[in-house]
Amino acid sequence: MSRVMALAADHDGLAGQYDFHCHSSASDGALSPTALVERAAARGVRVLALTDHDSLAGLPAAAARAAELGIELVNGIELSVTWGNRELHLVGLGFDRDSDAITRLVSEQQAARETRARRMGERLDRAADMVNCYDKAVELSGQAAPGRPWFARVLLAEGRVRSLQHAFNRFLKPGQSAFVRTPWATLETAVQALHQSGGVAVLAHPTRYGFTRRKLRTVLADFVAAGGDALEVAVPGLNPNQQQLMAECLRDFPLLASGGSDFHSPEQAWLDLGRVPAMPAQARAIWQGPA
Ligand code: AMP
Ligand code: MN
Ligand code: MN
Ligand code: MN
Repeated sequence: MSRVMALAADHDGLAGQYDFHCHSSASDGALSPTALVERAAARGVRVLALTDHDSLAGLPAAAARAAELGIELVNGIELSVTWGNRELHLVGLGFDRDSDAITRLVSEQQAARETRARRMGERLDRAADMVNCYDKAVELSGQAAPGRPWFARVLLAEGRVRSLQHAFNRFLKPGQSAFVRTPWATLETAVQALHQSGGVAVLAHPTRYGFTRRKLRTVLADFVAAGGDALEVAVPGLNPNQQQLMAECLRDFPLLASGGSDFHSPEQAWLDLGRVPAMPAQARAIWQGPA
């Protein structure tokens, strides 16, 4: 089906040697795409997917550096999607990064992000007594559509918050004054665009949405109905109950298993590149393809 599916032939198991979820400075990560690939290779990662938020911008440089270092770079992205009145994250893997379907979706998402960033800036100018907050986030990020972590960094630099977490809690989370609801692609549209461009769709970090078990199962039923392929179950830091829940979801829904660190910065050493736990027993990994 896609490049991800072709990996099975080359790699036996890949435990500790893959990472299918991480971020570079093309979205909200600290490292440039090339520095990210260098760090991954140095840490023993053999197959890496760069999955920046709604952006393909880091992929060419990452792929070039990966080729030089002899590791495999899988094209990836983390798409923000709308599900009812909630935002979910879909990791897309193994697509053709030049295909019309994915490039069109990404330009729509970037347009939505820019409108959102401008509004967020206006709201922070008022609520946090800032001046030209949007312009400052643009400057700091080097992006026209900086995401929330960049605004958090601006707020921290100007002494409006004690920490990045405080910025989210005080201003940027849903329900807070600078959270801007955004018309992201729907789950169906996003899955379709990934499939049309030759990729697969993975529901990212299922335990991080604050859903009840019942609600999560509703999401998964919708995700499967939309054509979703896999669930991101091999992620750092799950407690035994969450591991149990992930195993149950894999048992009850026709989904493959993916995994990744969601690495953003070397400062978060506990979720470094390639630090991905083993797949649950009986899981069918994404690189094995459907049974
Ligand atoms: P955005 O894509 O602009 O909605 O920003 C989402 C990103 O912000 C996530 O991928 C995380 O990197 C970060 N983030 C989200 N929620 C929080 C939070 N509560 N505390 C710290 N960082 C967060
Ligand atoms: Mn992020
Ligand atoms: Mn996410
Ligand atoms: Mn992520």
